[in-house]
Formats: sequence, structure tokens, C-alpha cells
Amino acid sequence: MPKSELSIVRVHNELLGTYGDRGNSDVLAFRAQARGISADVVDISYRDALPTTGDIYLLGGAEDAAQVLSTDALNRSLFAATIENGAVLLAICAGFQIIGTSYYAQGNRVDGIGLLDMETLPGDRRYVGDIKIHSPWCESDITGFENHGGKTILGRDISPFGEVITGFGNGESGVDGAVVGNIFGTYLHGPILARNPEFADLLLARAVGKALEPFDDELAKRYASERRKAVR
Ligand code: GLN
Repeated sequence: MPKSELSIVRVHNELLGTYGDRGNSDVLAFRAQARGISADVVDISYRDALPTTGDIYLLGGAEDAAQVLSTDALNRSLFAATIENGAVLLAICAGFQIIGTSYYAQGNRVDGIGLLDMETLPGDRRYVGDIKIHSPWCESDITGFENHGGKTILGRDISPFGEVITGFGNGESGVDGAVVGNIFGTYLHGPILARNPEFADLLLARAVGKALEPFDDELAKRYASERRKAVR
């Protein structure tokens, strides 16, 4: 049964908010409401228990120390149960690293919550700048901004989110992010959903459980196309 209301859970924004990824929730709520689907954005602090009733969970980018605090606070089994129930998860940069098996923060290896079979190692440099990728899940190329020190190595059965056209993504492997079921991880800030409305609609359709009605948002389309031209 397709859903007519959505709960969008912004996880630990006080820790995972450094790169402005909180804007992703506003875009999702706006584009859901444009289709007559009501959408509530719920902020869950690192001191709160994670609700299991969310339809979309969002993890953002962060500095190393905040990333470790957030990892400690996430209850792995609860989170896994939620995502296994079919909820959508979008995990950006630090959030993406957290859902793997391990990453490095301030020189130390840290266990991730292990939702995905992938590890993040210290990169050979800091990966900073505009990034453009092509993802098989979206017709249009996806643009964003990246700023991270980690490079991510995907386990054998994990598909990347896309092929890198410009920038670094997971490191020097030529791909960015990871996708498993309704879990999407990527290095793209922007916020990514503000810059790429087609991707926002893909996540919404997964959460609602059916294709969405078209929404002719000329301004968002024009902005996305300008960014695609600007990032070479
Ligand atoms: N602290 C992580 C790194 O530098 C993630 C940074 C980010 O979220 N932008 O790799």
C-alpha cells in the first residue's frame, strides 16, 4: 500500500551538520508536499533513541571527532532493523563512512556500524572540490562538492552509486558511494538533493512505494542543469 505521509528522520544533525547536508530533508519534504504527500522532518539528537518508524533516514557529513561521537551513539541493531524494514537511508560523507565496517578518524581506526561491507582508509591526500558523477539510478549526471580525507573500498558485492566524471568520490577508484537496496551512500555535499532533484524524487518514490506524479519545478531543473554545465 503506497504511503500518503512520510516521516523524514534527520539523524544527529548537531554532529553531522557541518557541511549543510540538513538541506536534504527540506528538499525531500518540499517535493513530497508538492505531490500531496505530507512529510514531517524529525530531528534526532545523539542523546535520543533512534525511532524505528521513520520512512527516510538522513546522515550528513562531519568533522572526525563529531563523526566518532555519532558512531558511538548509533545503535547498530536498531538501525539495521529499521533499514531492513524497507526504510530509505541517505548517508553523506562522514555518514557514509559510519555505515561501513571501519574508518579512520584523527589517525585512529574506528569501527563503523557495519550496515555495508566496506572500509574507509586514510587517503593519499584530502579530496576537495567539485564532483560530477554518472549514476545508473538517474538519467542526468549528478553534481556536488566533496571535502574528505578518507578513501572508501567497497566489498565485492556492493555497487557504487556512480562513476566519477570529475573529482574523486571514494578515492582513486573512479567510483563514488555505494548502493544496497534502499541504502544510498555518497561523498557528495551540495546539499546533493538541492542540486539534483531527480535523485530526491528517486528516494521519495522508494519511500512512498510507488512512482511519483511529475512535478514541473522549472527553477530546480534549471539550477541542476546549470550546475551540470559548470562542473566539468
Ligand atoms: N571526517 C571525514 C573525512 O575527512 C568526513 C568528512 C566529511 O563528512 N566531509 O574523511
